[in-house]
Amino acid sequence: MRLRIDSKAKLNNGVEMPWLGLGVWQLSSKETMTCVEHALRFGYRHIDTATLYGNESEVGLGVRKSGIPREEVFVTTKLWNSDHGRDRSVRAFEESLKELGLGYIDLYLIHWPVEKDRTESWNALLKALEAGRTKALGVSNYTVRHLEELLSGSSVVPAVNQVEFHPYLYQKELLEYCRKKGIQLEAYSPLMKGKRLDDFSFVEMAGRYKRSVPQILIRWCLQHGVVVIPKSSHKKRIEENGSVFDFNISAKDMDYLDSLHEDYRSTWDPSNVP
Ligand code: NDP
Repeated sequence: MRLRIDSKAKLNNGVEMPWLGLGVWQLSSKETMTCVEHALRFGYRHIDTATLYGNESEVGLGVRKSGIPREEVFVTTKLWNSDHGRDRSVRAFEESLKELGLGYIDLYLIHWPVEKDRTESWNALLKALEAGRTKALGVSNYTVRHLEELLSGSSVVPAVNQVEFHPYLYQKELLEYCRKKGIQLEAYSPLMKGKRLDDFSFVEMAGRYKRSVPQILIRWCLQHGVVVIPKSSHKKRIEENGSVFDFNISAKDMDYLDSLHEDYRSTWDPSNVP
């Protein structure tokens, strides 16, 4: 079936998550509200924020201002590292819920596999899931090792693992592991934070498809069955990044993009977290 901007992935608990979302890291308060509202009016139905980003309340405002019914929008936020622990994680969850002002959260993620505290926080947050205060619970920056540890102690499988993912960081083993376990992989920094958009391999391919490099990178994630959340502070770019549902990258070009893997990280690296 052909994907559209509001097409959704089905998570392991039946909740549906739009394949494309707007990331809002490093957007100012003012930009956040405007960009969220614009993205939703354009057709996006998914916003990715975090306590760390300091813009949850503006995400909530943007959603309300857009006029799109709450239940049609999927909002993710995350537990920050200083908020781990049995009681503290629950308090942080409640604060995020209040900041967003949207009644419930669609997906709550443990932002980083903080050593020692991550298991306790996961178990504490399961109560929020049971109570329906978040529709789904997941993790971010978890490697296979962190996931193995979580799965060995919990009967609830994370719905999502959000990690850095782009052709220069094609995390094939992690993708296959998550697929096998029923964990939806989600790509952050899919545009490598804008750092290498001028590389010849991408520019040449984009030219052949008459598309932009960001569109090729976003499409590559989608064709790998990975949810993707590019960020932009520009309305035109938000529209450009959302216009990726009317073309296909050929199998040969997908293989070529896959072959570019060089373990390059534009954000941070959780692989050494014990
Ligand atoms: P991205 O890979 O999405 O890149 C964003 C950069 O690309 C910005 O500089 C932006 O500039 C530029 N850009 C966006 N669209 C275009 C375009 N069409 N043409 C040219 N340049 C463009 O970086 P992020 O790190 O922000 O990742 C996306 C989201 O993922 C974050 O906002 C956040 O929600 C999430 N994230 C999660 C992390 C985690 O640990 N869980 C870590 C990192 C990100 P401009 O804004 O000026 O348009």
